[in-house]
Parts: sequence; C-alpha cells; structure tokens
Amino acid sequence: MSLFGQERRCVVCGKPLQMQVCKTCKGIGKVRSGLFGQRDCQACGGEGFLHVCPDAWKHALGQGPKASPQRRVCPTCRGTKGIRHPMTGQIGPCPRCGGRGWV
Ligand SMILES: [Zn+2]
Ligand SMILES: [Zn+2]
Ligand SMILES: [Zn+2]
Repeated sequence: MSLFGQERRCVVCGKPLQMQVCKTCKGIGKVRSGLFGQRDCQACGGEGFLHVCPDAWKHALGQGPKASPQRRVCPTCRGTKGIRHPMTGQIGPCPRCGGRGWV
C-alpha cells in the first residue's frame, strides 16, 4: 500500500502538501527507545515523512489551526512572561499568565 499516490491537501489553505523527511527519525520512521529497542516515531507516525504545506510558515504567523484566537498577550507582563516583584525587586514568573506570556 502506497501513500504516494494520494494527494493530501493543507487543511488551512487547501494547497497540496509537500513530503518532507521527518527530522525526528531522519526518514527511518523509528526512533530509539531505551538501549536496544525501537518504537514508531511519533512525529511522523512511523512513515518517515511529514506532509507539510509549502505555506506552513505563513499559517504559523497567524491563521494556523494551532494558533488559538482566544490567546492574547498577557496584560500584566506584556508577553515578557516575568515581572519584577514589587517587594523584592526580583524578576519572577508572571502570576497572571503563569509565566506563559499569554492568557
Ligand atoms: Zn496551507
Ligand atoms: Zn519520524
Ligand atoms: Zn503575564
């Protein structure tokens, strides 16, 4: 069974996806597990290839499915993830966003 015949399309823009060698397993489809064992690579599902949109980097800038529209920059730390403690003056994780930089 070959996956090469069927064309996959980007769920965001509908362009045909490009095959790209999986960086995690270097195209092997397996990664080392423990000392001698192997398991299927989770990044590519054991295929050794990833199907990526040629415009994936554009999607990552904004409209990608992973970019949640609810996320916005934390107003307390303004995205810097840390604030200066008013008492000690030390930089610590922002309590509003939990150090993530967004809420
Ligand atoms: Zn796309
Ligand atoms: Zn892989
Ligand atoms: Zn914050």
